[in-house]
Amino acid sequence: MPPLIAADAALFLDLDGTLINLAPTPDAVVVPDGLVASLNAVSARLGGALAIVTGRTIDTVDALLGCRFAAAGEHGAALRLSPGAPIAHLDLPRPPVAWIAQGEAAVAPYPGALLERKAAGFVLHYRRIPQAGPALEQAARGIVAADPRFSVMAAKMAWEIKPAGVNKGAAVRSLMAQPPFAGRRPVYVGDDVTDEAGIAACTALGGTGYRVGADFADPAAVRAWLRRV
Ligand SMILES: [Mg+2]
Repeated sequence: MPPLIAADAALFLDLDGTLINLAPTPDAVVVPDGLVASLNAVSARLGGALAIVTGRTIDTVDALLGCRFAAAGEHGAALRLSPGAPIAHLDLPRPPVAWIAQGEAAVAPYPGALLERKAAGFVLHYRRIPQAGPALEQAARGIVAADPRFSVMAAKMAWEIKPAGVNKGAAVRSLMAQPPFAGRRPVYVGDDVTDEAGIAACTALGGTGYRVGADFADPAAVRAWLRRV
């Protein structure tokens, strides 16, 4: 298990697959008992410098956890600097309305695939029907092809259409530029390809990152580590 973090650290935590177990659909996740209490205790120990960094919207994170932490939602398209602060939405292009219909048409032939809408984009999920992955990637890339303001990002069993340049690394840099994060040593924990940008940003800022599946066996191990912190 990675070393416990110091009181002068800033902690960036992915949610799905890192703090909570993945589920067949995004709505089906279960928040384990004790997680929110651990997060609150660690956040207090770090002076509030604990942020949930996720592809989900911050509203969804708040609803799932039943508690408001500092957060970067939608891979950094929305930021909340501290537990009581308002959510700041980056000034980002919105996907054309027609794209949603194209995305719905792309998932329609694949029972179990689903489209998840977000403010600044949408996601084509294929966890329940893995064989749809290549076709949905092709569809996603086709949808954004004519608009360089958007890009397709690979996630776990999903293709996400989002504004280009929005990623968890940029989110970490934005949070680290301001209190209560600024000046602290950033530590990132994540499980997904989308977390690599966050880990790279923390490393570049003199910190480090840990991966579920390598440094931690599973989300339960991350939760046990948080309890010890
Ligand atoms: Mg994850």
